[in-house]
Parts: sequence; structure tokens; C-alpha cells
Amino acid sequence: MVKNSFLAFGLTLPLVGCVTTTSPVATTDSYIVDSKTYQATGKSERVKTIVLHYTVSDNERSIKTLTTGNVSAHYLVLDNDDDKIYNLVPESERAWHAGDGGFAGRTILNDTSIGIEIVNSGIKPEYRDALKNGTLDYHPYAHYVAFDELQIKKVAQLVQDIATRYDISPKNIIGHSDMAPSRKIDPGAKFPWERLYFDYGIGAWYDEFDKQFFMNQDGFASATIPEIKQAFRKYGYQINDTDTWDKASRDVVYAFQLHFRAQQPTGHMDSETYAILQALNKKYAGRDDFY
Ligand SMILES: [Zn+2]
Repeated sequence: MVKNSFLAFGLTLPLVGCVTTTSPVATTDSYIVDSKTYQATGKSERVKTIVLHYTVSDNERSIKTLTTGNVSAHYLVLDNDDDKIYNLVPESERAWHAGDGGFAGRTILNDTSIGIEIVNSGIKPEYRDALKNGTLDYHPYAHYVAFDELQIKKVAQLVQDIATRYDISPKNIIGHSDMAPSRKIDPGAKFPWERLYFDYGIGAWYDEFDKQFFMNQDGFASATIPEIKQAFRKYGYQINDTDTWDKASRDVVYAFQLHFRAQQPTGHMDSETYAILQALNKKYAGRDDFY
């Protein structure tokens, strides 16, 4: 009570001065925003990309991490046997899920993407240390934990809905690993990109005919490393311009294989990987909008 009285007293003092010297006038010029008379045609959606993740933890820990820490996602798909998807951050706001990296000419993807986290353990516990003794550079397909079928159905419907509402280009529906190949491997080799494409029309996938055509041409035998890297860049991957397959470059190859040849992710560039990349570039060339 004492504090309130004191505040009220303090606030009234300057007003007394005003009232005594001037009659009431507007203190700010007010204005009206007219959003009907003129309309621009040059515009597009702010959301350009969907980034899919796995959480590497169970339901309880995923909820805690994504709601109380300094990481978040717009949506969380638990592995509960129910029909819920949790919306943790409004689509109009930034979620903190993407971090450093980039794809299709865009960096700072938190600004322009919707992030979806799926509860999944990632690498099976018995293989978590498999890369430490130096005999393996990357986790093979068998090391990854499969997704629950119900999760995939939920993710498919959610992605379909978001992609339609924002008119997101198919190749901009990506995994965290696609945009940050040296830092991230999620959503991993068992995320069913191919099924999502064929069953739900989601994301990008190559035509088998084109892949066979490029395999038969055997462009890999004559392509230089810079040429192959340029093909990765054309599709959207960030890759350095050294003329060797250094670790950072192999990380990109591995990320690409996780997405488009998930049963054999090796991190080594080969003729099949190059044929898939060429087939994708043929199909999706010129589909990006950079405005
Ligand atoms: Zn992630």
C-alpha cells in the first residue's frame, strides 16, 4: 500500500505542470495504415524450408529439452500411441532448431524454416562408440534406430500440410544433415524419404530412368572432383571447393546418401551417388526462388 501511494504521487507531479501551461493537444500524430488501396504483386512466403530432426532421446527428455532449454522446434512428434502432434513454437516465430549451415543458397535457416523434431534414439546404443576406434568413418544403415510407423504417418500429414500452405519447393524439404553435414546426421538413414515421396508426394526424389541413364553414361569416370562438387552445389548443398574428398566434403556425400541412398551411406563418392545427383539436378533444376 505504501509503495503504491508513493508511485501514484510521483506520477502526478509532472502532469500538474503540463495541465497548468497548455490546453489538451495530441502528443503524437496518429496515422492510419491503408492495406486495401494498393497491393504489390512481388511477394512470396517467408517460410521456405522444412527441416526434419530426430531428438536422440525419449519422450520425457525431448519435451524437457525442447520446452525449457535454448533449443526448440515448431513441432514435436512423440512416439506415443495417440493422434497428437505438439506445436511448441508458433509458425510465425523463429524456433531454434537449425543452427549453422545452409541449403539452396539460404543460411540462417531458423529465419525461414519450420523445424520438426521426431522422438527417436538415432544410433543404437551398442553402436554409439562405433566410430571411435577409427575403423569406421560413418554409421552404416544398420546402426540407426527405425522410426515408429505412426510417427511417420503423423510427420507425413504435418509436412504435407505445411508444404502446401507455404508452397514449399520439394527439394527444400530436408533433413538437418542436409543443411549441416559436418555437424549433424539426423534424421538418419532410417527416415523414409523415398516412401514419403511415393506415398504422400512429399519432398524430392529422382526418376529411376534418369538414374539408369546417367549410370550408363558413366560420367563419374570422367568427372573431375570440382565438377562433382559443383553438381552438389547446384542441388543446394554447401560444399567446399578443394579438389580432394577431404573429411568436410565426404560429410556432404554422406548426408546426401543418408537422404537419397540410405541403405548404403558410406561417405565415399561413387558412380551411383553421382548418377542420383545428376538425375535430381535434371528434375529439379531451376525450381528455386531466391526472392
Ligand atoms: Zn537436428
